[in-house]
Parts: sequence; structure tokens; C-alpha cells
Amino acid sequence: MPLHTTEAIVIGGHNLGEADRIIPFFTRKLGKVRAVARGARRVRSRYGGTLELFTLGQLVFFESPNRTLHKINEFSVIEPFAELKADLGRLSRGAYLVELAGASIEEGESSEEIFLLLRDALTLLALHDDSRLLRSFEIRLLRIVGYLLELYHCLVCRSVLESIAEPAISPTRGGLVCSRCLSRAPDNLPISLESLGFLRSVLHGRLEQSLASPLSHPHLTSLQEVLRVCIAHFFGKRLRSVAFLSLVE
Ligand SMILES: [Zn+2]
Repeated sequence: MPLHTTEAIVIGGHNLGEADRIIPFFTRKLGKVRAVARGARRVRSRYGGTLELFTLGQLVFFESPNRTLHKINEFSVIEPFAELKADLGRLSRGAYLVELAGASIEEGESSEEIFLLLRDALTLLALHDDSRLLRSFEIRLLRIVGYLLELYHCLVCRSVLESIAEPAISPTRGGLVCSRCLSRAPDNLPISLESLGFLRSVLHGRLEQSLASPLSHPHLTSLQEVLRVCIAHFFGKRLRSVAFLSLVE
């Protein structure tokens, strides 16, 4: 059985049998890894409380040949992100981030870029409960998985953004359409110039820059809906925690 060592984030967990836990991780080197923690629910478990949601650590596991469920050998905590469990708002937003990251790759795929995006987003969310982080995470994740929204030209007539009155985003066309071309993009969602400016400014560079990009509350709310529809279009389903998130935002 090959032994692997990689940085990993706990993205879920459920009980198995009398005393064990199955833990899904998003790992830096190997994508999503599901592994069993033997005896994790025993009082004197060697894992203690280390395998909780969001915890970043160094994972050592045995790869089971021809099986998707591996065996944890060791998990040493780097950062527990305890702040994310301190209130319902951050808990739900953090849960949304790990679910979206987990849904973005298939079993057997890996993406160090998504791992680093998730790690950075959880780090910042622990310090700043700010929904601009979620919007930045979403637009960046869409870019990484290959759904780069066009934010500069109308996708039908090629008008540039500066000359577009009442712009809209079409998820099926993959970005901007102008008011003259709306009939050729029936799924269009209105988007403000402020929201477009925000998306353009947070698409690249360091994630914490999104906290310095101004976007007032009404624009942030409408942008949330636009990105939610784009994500649902791209991923083909509404994620479970989106409903959960809408309860607290
Ligand atoms: Zn147009």
C-alpha cells in the first residue's frame, strides 16, 4: 500500500460503524481523498478533535489499491480555523466554500490552484466575515475550472463595456450582453457597472485585494444572484449549502 503525504483540508465527515469516521479531504497534491479514521469516535482516540470541518493539516494516508476509501495514518493540524465555527454566519459561508471547491473537481482529479484558493479563502474568512470574499472565490473558481465569464465585450455584437448601457450577464453565452442584444440571450441577468468593475478587479491578484474593492450592499446582493445562476448553470445543480446560506445572509 503506497503511503502519501500532502497538505489537506477537512471538507466533511460522517460516522462509520461503531467507532470510525470517514473523512473527505481536499488535498494539495491529490485532489479529493476519502479516508477512514479508525477509532476516531473513541474517547481516547489519537485523533482527538483534529478531524473537524475546515481543519488544515498534514495528511499521511495509505492508498488502498482499486478502492476509493483510503486509510488515515496520521493527520497533524496546521490550522484548525476555529473562528469559522464560532458563529453561524461564518460556519455557513465556510461550508459553502468547501462544498463548492469539492464540487469543482471529479474524484481522481487534482488542482493545486483550487486547493490554494480554498486555503486562502478560509484563512481570510476566519479574519473577515465579508461576503465579498465569497463572490471573489466564486468568480476565480469559475475561471480555474474553465468557465471564464466575458466581462469586457458584448458576446453578441462585440460592443465594449464602456459603451454598454444596462449590461446583463448571460450564463449560457458565458458573459456580458448589451441591452440591444438581450433578445439573443434569453437567460440574461441584469448586472451593474459597479458589479462588473468588482469582478474585473478581483479576478486576478491576491484574494485579500477583494476586501479593498468597494461594492455597496445592493450591488453585492444582485451580484450574488448572478454568480449563483452562473454556478448552477456550470455545475448543473444547485449545491446543498446554497439553500443553507440563503437562510443566514
Ligand atoms: Zn450587443
